[in-house]
Amino acid sequence: MSLVATGVSKDYPTRMGPLSVLRNVNVSLNRGDALAVMGPSGSGKSTFLHMLGTLDTPTAGSITLEGTNPFTLPERELAAFRNRRIGFVFQDHHLLPQCSVLENVLVPTLVSRDTQPAETEAYARQLLERVGLGGRLDHRPAELSGGERQRVAVARALVLKPVLLLADEPTGNLDRKNATAVGELLMELHRQENNILVVVTHSPELAKLLPKQVEVNDGTLVTS
Ligand code: ADP
Ligand code: MG
Repeated sequence: MSLVATGVSKDYPTRMGPLSVLRNVNVSLNRGDALAVMGPSGSGKSTFLHMLGTLDTPTAGSITLEGTNPFTLPERELAAFRNRRIGFVFQDHHLLPQCSVLENVLVPTLVSRDTQPAETEAYARQLLERVGLGGRLDHRPAELSGGERQRVAVARALVLKPVLLLADEPTGNLDRKNATAVGELLMELHRQENNILVVVTHSPELAKLLPKQVEVNDGTLVTS
């Protein structure tokens, strides 16, 4: 298995003592797998996704991605691992307003000390073509609609060909039509890239686009 979470628990320290958010969560996913994570607000969906994405550390248990436990890596190596192996799409697009669409998609490649910038730029252009924005490369984010901005964010998440693509409420700010379009786009690119896709969503319509669904319920994952 490419992504394995074993016995993962998360407590947050609070003034009232530890807050137990997740308990003994287990997940195994391979390339080509796509999982929707549902559950009420505050149930721990983002916490779970952040741990899969190495942005937060489990209190107990282990997570490995392609055989590496990222939490054992020194900080610099962890940052490089995250940059190279994991793509993120958030509810807010987090595009840089002063940069063009193409420059935004290339942002992850600045960190990775790209050795083949011409090839990477060609790939970024190709991705923008695939998300339907090939004609908007020089536009600024402010010149795009909400759905278009989120499609740029999807292209940016994929530019370094991550094995793991994580999306936290990626359609939460979009109207129904754009939400469906972004959901279908995520699935299409996931199939083409043969990566692992994990999408947190409130939306049953979006969840249904993914072949597997789980619900975070009282700190554990329940197959729904
Ligand atoms: P969801 O994404 O399902 O809405 P979250 O994972 O964001 O839920 O949060 C789960 C629970 O953990 C909530 O009760 C939230 O208040 C709490 N929580 C999240 N982050 C922190 C933190 N850094 N410190 C303390 N509690 C937190
Ligand atoms: Mg959340």
